[in-house]
Amino acid sequence: MTSEPTYHMIIDGKKLSAPTGFEVTNPATGAVIGYAPNGQSKDLDAAVDSAARAFKTWSLITDEARCAAIRAVSAKLEEHAEELAQLMTAEQGKPLNGIGSRFEVGLLKDWAEHTASTKLPVKVIQDDETGKVELHRKPLGVIGSITPWNFPLAIAIWHVLPAIRTGNTVVLKPSPHTPLATLRMVELMNEVLPAGVINCVTCDDKSSNLGAEMSVHRGIRKIILTGSNRTGAKVMSSAADTMKRLTLELGGNDAAIVLPDVDAKAIAEGLFFGAFFNNGQACAAIKRLYVHEDVYDEVCDALAEFAGNIKTGPGTDEDSILGPLANQMQFDIVSRLVEEGAKEGRVLTGGAPGEGLFYPVTLIADLNDDNPLVQSEQFGPVLPIIKYSDIDAAIEMANRNENGLGGSIWSSDVEKARQLALRLETGTGWVNQHGMLRPDVPFGGRKKSGLGVEFGEEGLASYTDIQAVVS
Ligand code: NAD
Repeated sequence: MTSEPTYHMIIDGKKLSAPTGFEVTNPATGAVIGYAPNGQSKDLDAAVDSAARAFKTWSLITDEARCAAIRAVSAKLEEHAEELAQLMTAEQGKPLNGIGSRFEVGLLKDWAEHTASTKLPVKVIQDDETGKVELHRKPLGVIGSITPWNFPLAIAIWHVLPAIRTGNTVVLKPSPHTPLATLRMVELMNEVLPAGVINCVTCDDKSSNLGAEMSVHRGIRKIILTGSNRTGAKVMSSAADTMKRLTLELGGNDAAIVLPDVDAKAIAEGLFFGAFFNNGQACAAIKRLYVHEDVYDEVCDALAEFAGNIKTGPGTDEDSILGPLANQMQFDIVSRLVEEGAKEGRVLTGGAPGEGLFYPVTLIADLNDDNPLVQSEQFGPVLPIIKYSDIDAAIEMANRNENGLGGSIWSSDVEKARQLALRLETGTGWVNQHGMLRPDVPFGGRKKSGLGVEFGEEGLASYTDIQAVVS
């Protein structure tokens, strides 16, 4: 072990170590930046017990008190925003600036405010001389939150705040690739929340897989997972026995369709960041670009020109716009799929791995829709471009993928684009933008991209069960 810090799990408001820890490395340098505890079943049991004890009082305090607590969490994390952003850049690789770590930590304020101000009022179905029927929203109990490595803090916040707002308590388990910023964030949350309301366990996913154990745990009433389709399917089948409620935010292979009436130069920046924000490691990033033949060359040229001005470098360089890939596993997936794409297509820029985990922005044109780079979720700084001549065929290609998270239509005729967006089999259809999430707009996937939604009133309601009171 090097002298880098050892982090602790947070259970019942206290820091808890494990007999062994696992290394967390900086993807920009390969250096170990700290050790996370390799938690075991007994740690998960302790976290669930602690959350269950806290639920007894947390579920009964007033709604106003819970809203005040959410605002206190937001203020506490804001005080530590720079520390959290630095830690996330160190373990995940994303730049501090731009749509990077500082932006991600900054999202908290909007989400906290929206979560605290959204209401789930009692719905009155009947109230007359023959009787009264009300629908109440009741908290579920202990929520198991399982998060991925691409947006470690934003996604944890998106899980935790609505859960506690509605009276639940939480056991959070971050990805073994990026556990440190989450552990620190939960430690800070515990400075303003009662013990047990939010607990955090970590494990290496090799000798211990607490995510899998959470899915079958009898003390957990709901799992919210943001992760891959594969993990989502496992969680869904494991959760059946205990009839857990589920929200599954899974993979995407979002298509963007460019109509012939666009100004190629004007949309290049939006298309570029729609595809490449977070280095393409975003569920709702453009991962396939279908361009009408009339504007195909102009769009390819405008994108290649825009890409030429983008700096990829260590996240701590204040002028880096994109960082390294977050881990070796993802680097290998991207390298393999780019090889497949380059065999068939025309490489406009990039196309070969860089140093360490750095991968250059890669645009590959003239691809067939069947190419594995088009059909798989590549999750990296790569965009395959496909030419089309008929809009119905383009919509069909967009819809034939098994994922259905997001999609977008790019056109100067916004109303026509809205009508086409309605034909996409996706949870969100954007027009002239892609991937912009909002706290007031439900977000989720259709088909294999998931189950249920987060955000908005619908997302908040998913942390409750309905109880009808009939008299
Ligand atoms: P992953 O599925 O490998 O891991 C996600 C989490 O699940 C991690 O915490 C992991 O430790 C845990 N896990 C591993 N095995 C498990 C098991 N058997 N049971 C329960 N949990 C288990 O995903 P990842 O590689 O960390 O993240 C990338 C994936 O997440 C991509 O597919 C991406 O599209 C998806 N994602 C989706 C959204 C969305 O909102 N739809 C957002 C971000 C990322």
